[in-house]
Amino acid sequence: MSKSFYITTTLPYVNAEPHIGFALELVQADIIARVKRLHGDVFFNTGTDEHGLKVYRAAEAVNLPPQEYVNGFAERYLELQKRLNVTTDAFLRTTSSAHIVAAQELWRRCSKDIEKRGFKGLYCVGCEAFVKENDLIDGKCTDHNTVPEIVEEENWFFKVSNEYKSKILTYLKQASVIIPESRRLEAIDFVKNGFGDFSVSRPKERLPWGIPVPGDDSQVMYVWFDALTNYISTLGWPAEGRHFNRFWQEGETVQLAGKDQVRFQSLMWQVMLLSAKIKLTDKVVYHGHITSEGRKMSKSIGNVVNPFDLIDEYGTDAVRYFLGRHINPFADSDFTLERFKEAYHSGLANGLGNLISRVMKMAQDNLIQIPTTPDHTISAEFWNLLDNFEFNKATDLIWQEITMLDQKIQTTEPFKLVKIDREQGVKLISELVVDLYTIARMLSPIMPETSTMIKDLIKTNRAPEKPIFPRKD
Ligand SMILES: [Zn+2]
Repeated sequence: MSKSFYITTTLPYVNAEPHIGFALELVQADIIARVKRLHGDVFFNTGTDEHGLKVYRAAEAVNLPPQEYVNGFAERYLELQKRLNVTTDAFLRTTSSAHIVAAQELWRRCSKDIEKRGFKGLYCVGCEAFVKENDLIDGKCTDHNTVPEIVEEENWFFKVSNEYKSKILTYLKQASVIIPESRRLEAIDFVKNGFGDFSVSRPKERLPWGIPVPGDDSQVMYVWFDALTNYISTLGWPAEGRHFNRFWQEGETVQLAGKDQVRFQSLMWQVMLLSAKIKLTDKVVYHGHITSEGRKMSKSIGNVVNPFDLIDEYGTDAVRYFLGRHINPFADSDFTLERFKEAYHSGLANGLGNLISRVMKMAQDNLIQIPTTPDHTISAEFWNLLDNFEFNKATDLIWQEITMLDQKIQTTEPFKLVKIDREQGVKLISELVVDLYTIARMLSPIMPETSTMIKDLIKTNRAPEKPIFPRKD
């Protein structure tokens, strides 16, 4: 029996509309979830991170109570999932009562490592983190281009002992725990140079919007301590029932995150798990950022592409296609509408869409019998690439097949042949249909609706009535 498989996105902050960078993470996780479901049980988690100073201030700015404010955004993130056709098993909101119970319980289990101290530091609200003077340029956070606030207060601190550091280093020495390799080296470097005690609470008077610290009414949890707990609270933890044991303790666990999250996902969260005596994450995969003219696309900067608009105009599978094939899974990629349109026309309107129409028109006009479609014609290389999160290379393989099929039609001209030598012509067309069916099977994790549609056309021997990917001139 194969291992149970757990995959999760990060939980986005709900202080603005969903952007294309989070759509990327959802689609990547969904592709993997769909592949893994072919072999066993999968739990696919996502949700929304709803506490913290950034959210509190955004709610204040529009004069809404924070809960009401986050409810509206949670709806939008749920809507995005539906529009992207992602097959999640849970949508975890950090303001849900089950999650609050879990975060407080995790705090209790870590409490031997948590102590209260006076503290003075520089705080970037954009990062929701204390920042070091060394990391600033002209006194400003490089990600947010803002001057951090000076904060002097009492906080609870999580103590990162030398013993923990050495255990985390041992964990990070396993090549499989972080993809890509450059992020793993970065994580090791963080542990060796600067991973130390970190603050895990805020005074309630400065931040009323958070989960109360157990046993200290004056403090609420640091939003990261709270939010990271979602990865297990979604499985019903602290109840060690069916889901938690099966998917986290005994299953294979994968977290997806943006490349700027290495400290949080691979260090902070792992040391919290160590302290609570819970299994560490098997693998964290870091994707690059989607940039806009070379700058990070982010809510704080305001250069955001709205994924809903793209889906409205081009359709769900076109957006999934672009994110799968034309965004580098690990390095930054620039997004422009021109690039998107060009990829849509060459890959979908003229490429896949045109191929489906040509093959199925010939099939509809000439085939009496629907050809038998074999199950085992996809190369191991394709599955290996997906197993290694190389979405772009895996999708390229499908498009190589599409190009080969186009060339086959061009050189053999079955539409002419069938008029001269009916038997040979029908044989060729049947072969093309079988090849198209294999393409449909390869497309299923990446473009699921298109995959199903091709299979339906083949099973009913019909050509599509109108172009599947109409040109947008
Ligand atoms: Zn910042």
